[in-house]
This record gives sequence, structure tokens and C-alpha cells, in this order.
Amino acid sequence: MNNYICVTCGVQYAESEEPPEHCLICEDERQYIGTNGQQWTTLAELRQGHRNLIQPQEPGLIGIGSDPAIAIGQRALLVQQAAGNVLWDCISLLDEATIRAVKELGGIAAIAISHPHFYSSMVEWARAFGAPIYLHADDRQWVMRPDTAIVFWQGEQRTLAGGLTLARCGGHFAGGTLLHWAGGAGGRGALLSGDTIQVVSDRRYVSFMYSYPDLIPLPAAKVRHIVESVGPFAFERVYGGWWDRVVTEDGKAAVARSAERYIKAIGGG
Ligand SMILES: [Zn+2]
Ligand SMILES: [Zn+2]
Repeated sequence: MNNYICVTCGVQYAESEEPPEHCLICEDERQYIGTNGQQWTTLAELRQGHRNLIQPQEPGLIGIGSDPAIAIGQRALLVQQAAGNVLWDCISLLDEATIRAVKELGGIAAIAISHPHFYSSMVEWARAFGAPIYLHADDRQWVMRPDTAIVFWQGEQRTLAGGLTLARCGGHFAGGTLLHWAGGAGGRGALLSGDTIQVVSDRRYVSFMYSYPDLIPLPAAKVRHIVESVGPFAFERVYGGWWDRVVTEDGKAAVARSAERYIKAIGGG
């Protein structure tokens, strides 16, 4: 028996004798099947050819990403705080070296994930650190490895320990979630956004899509809703889902001006 991991999206499935026939996440119109067809791997295989890089991003924030990159290639973020560390988003590879290093950084008290593309090996991480996983209930259908560690939260916001708040903004996925870290950027606040709000190559801007690989935009109303969902929060920085995708200053204004530009471009203004 094995918990197979989809090579294209990096999501780990419930235990099975044979690899699953389908990856429901990749068959969804927001993802894709790789050119060689549906391929599967395992954690044991990934451990042979990859390792995790653990790199400080700013005081109290550590990036964790695999090298070479796996599947979608996101990096997770560990928010370090006295009230208990929170792992924001997740990655497919977990190995002994990572467990040791993260324990030295204070471990993980809770895991929260922006959307199903980053569910990855979340259950492995939850078990290694004895942490619950907070997922928005509106994305429940996309959980491919159900587990008692998963806490489905509902509604628009959920407060976590410390100065952390989960905010559902929808868009890319119905349960698409952001994490606001009030203590980030030296107390000016940081928004951890995965690709629900995507920091783009010009890091003064962000973007919003229904599908990134298949380039399906969002309608104006959904983009406006995303901006409204961050209205209550102050933030200077926006940490996207990849190492180099960070808006370092004026983050809240960057989200607002990016939404305006986007809505104009799709003729929805
Ligand atoms: Zn997949
Ligand atoms: Zn995604």
C-alpha cells in the first residue's frame, strides 16, 4: 500500500495498492495532465532526488521549498510566533532533515493552506508535527487524502493563535484563502497569498486568475470581491507562493491598483 503523489500537481492521495487511475485535481479545468499522461510518484522516491531548502525571509518568517522544485514548485512559509508556529501552504516533500530543522525552529502548531493545488503531502506534515490542518470547507471536495487532522472552517474569516487571520477571498477556488500576519514586515503587516492573489514578475503588481496554467481569467465581480476581502487588513508586503514572488512595499495599494488594471483589461470597468 502506498500514498501516491501526482507528479504534475504534487498532491498526495489516500492509501492504495495501485496508483489511482485519475488525478481529479489535474483533470479539473484549472490544471492539466502532463504531456506524458498521468504519472505518479511516492514520498520515498521524492526523498531520493530532492531536498528541502529552509531560508529566512524576514524576522519570524521562514520559507521552505524543494530543490529541485517538485510539481507546481511552490514554497511554504513558516510563521514563527510565541503563540505557536503556523505553516502556511505546504509542499510534497517531507524528510527527516526537514523535520529536524523545523523542530529546531519551534515546530508547527497549525497548518493552513490557501487552496487545493497546495494540499500536497499535508497529512504527512500534520502527523509529523501533531498539527491540525485548516482548510476552507468550500473546497472539501478537493481533499484527496481525508484525515482526522483536517479542520474545515466556514464563513469569511477565522482567527488563529497570535496575530494571524485566515480570510476567504474565493476567485481561483471557491474556498481560496489568504493569511494575514499582523506582525509581519516589522508590524506593518504581511499578506501570505499563495496564488489566490498572485504576485507577478513585475513585483509592484499582483494578478488574479481562475486558471494560471490554462490562462482563464476571473470576472470583474470576483476580482472586486478579492479586494474587498482584504479591506479590513493593513499590510505592507505580499508573499506569493514562490520564492521570488514578493511585493516588498505598499502591498495593499499594489493589490488595489492591480485589480483596477485587471478589470480595465478584461473590459469589465
Ligand atoms: Zn494532479
Ligand atoms: Zn493554484
